[in-house]
Amino acid sequence: MRHQKLYINTIGCQMNVYDSDRIARALEPGGYRQTDTLEEADLVIVNTCAIRAKAEQKAFSFIGRLARMKRQNPKLLIGVGGCVAQQEGEAILSRMPHVDLIFGTHAIPRLPRIVDQAKTRRIRVVDVEQSDEIDEIDLTAGFHSDGQVSRFVTIMQGCDNYCSYCVVPYVRGTEMSRHPDRILSEIETLVRNGVREVTLLGQNVNSYGRKEGLSSFAELLERVNGIEGLRRIRFTTSHPKDLSDDLMGAFGKLAKLCPHIHLPVQSGSDPVLKRMNRKYTRQVYLDRIERLRSIRPDIAVTSDFIVGFPGESREDFEATLTLVETVAFDSIFAFMYSDREIAPASHFKNKVNEDEIKARLQELLAAQETITLRNNRALVGTLQEIMVEGSSTRPGLAESIDAGPQWSGRTPGNKIVNFSPGRDLGSEETLQVGQMVAVRIEKAHAHSLRGELVRKEPSEGCPRGKECHAA
Ligand code: SAM
Ligand code: SF4
Repeated sequence: MRHQKLYINTIGCQMNVYDSDRIARALEPGGYRQTDTLEEADLVIVNTCAIRAKAEQKAFSFIGRLARMKRQNPKLLIGVGGCVAQQEGEAILSRMPHVDLIFGTHAIPRLPRIVDQAKTRRIRVVDVEQSDEIDEIDLTAGFHSDGQVSRFVTIMQGCDNYCSYCVVPYVRGTEMSRHPDRILSEIETLVRNGVREVTLLGQNVNSYGRKEGLSSFAELLERVNGIEGLRRIRFTTSHPKDLSDDLMGAFGKLAKLCPHIHLPVQSGSDPVLKRMNRKYTRQVYLDRIERLRSIRPDIAVTSDFIVGFPGESREDFEATLTLVETVAFDSIFAFMYSDREIAPASHFKNKVNEDEIKARLQELLAAQETITLRNNRALVGTLQEIMVEGSSTRPGLAESIDAGPQWSGRTPGNKIVNFSPGRDLGSEETLQVGQMVAVRIEKAHAHSLRGELVRKEPSEGCPRGKECHAA
């Protein structure tokens, strides 16, 4: 049987990256194999994001460009999945006549049947039905890590928080947690296949298992920490209102849990937080950060911000600037507020004009850049444990400290480090992806660090005490 070629364009967050994996897995038994070359595809799937208008426009502009391909090859199947598919449903078919199938965020397990219907019966299919239980797809049967040592693992889907600006509860449905045994067995298989770091994903991992009466998130972390061969655990995203003492305590207790928390605050102003329906105050947020730092002084803290939320005054925005200065985040993502029709804030009065939003965004990013650089500089001279993720290919590295091979990886706090083998270890030095090494930080940039290898642990498969040379 000739394999059919599947091309997936993933737009949006880590959750979509994970879902694209599920899409590929679901279609594999039907003979679809993934390709990176759009032109040779028999089936193109666009996995969309609806969080901001820009992401949605990006999806429609890509789908629009596929019309020409379809004219040249009428047998080509085009599918649209993810959050925009869930939100717009059938309407996409009339807007984009060359699209064959629309499938929502809960329809991935049904995708083989949807594709088959579109292919054999030449009909256009729409499936945006939301289910009230998690449909598992076995991501691990025949899994190959393809040299990737770090993987995402979704532990829950949906969200019950209804922040007033956000589409997620509407397009991904209510919150549902996967059974811990399924999560554990998925991670164990990944680890058996070479994965060394997992990032547990959910819109609000802190409320994991609460509704279903499963274990708490802190308990789940403890079990994951016990998996032999796994080196690092990360998770995202945490909601400040649900950050429990147990979870904060896990940072002081679990050896594999990386000292990094992404804790989106969105705004530093209490009236704005109230209108956003975030259910915490600025002070509660600051108290949580203080407690986290008392448990784990080296913890890296990152956050998300929305700038120009309806009614945000200059005074509100200045409260955000002072919060950024007080917390001294390691890095932040800052977004211009984007009106989403489904979300209540789209009906709020006193919208901030776009030029003002742009100016505030620049001001916030500039303030944070100074702080990031300051935090990065404080690491110069320290020894950091790095998990090797690959060789660095960025231009300009060749003229750095050492002309030998260049490597890259991340600190426990999730900062990118590019490093050279080091003078004492010889120019022959080679490393393996997934190996843990100690690197002395020599230079700080705004978005990365530069260092020199000081010591390496024997890589797995290489007996302790013996020299190992990777390809
Ligand atoms: N669940 C996470 C949380 O509670 O923060 C994040 C979910 S969302 C996928 C990622 C980020 O997108 C949010 O933290 C927020 O900053 C931003 N975002 C969500 N809706 C937005 C909107 N309408 N306009 C601009 N940014 C938005
Ligand atoms: Fe959206 Fe709020 Fe849920 Fe995050 S917690 S996904 S911002 S509704």
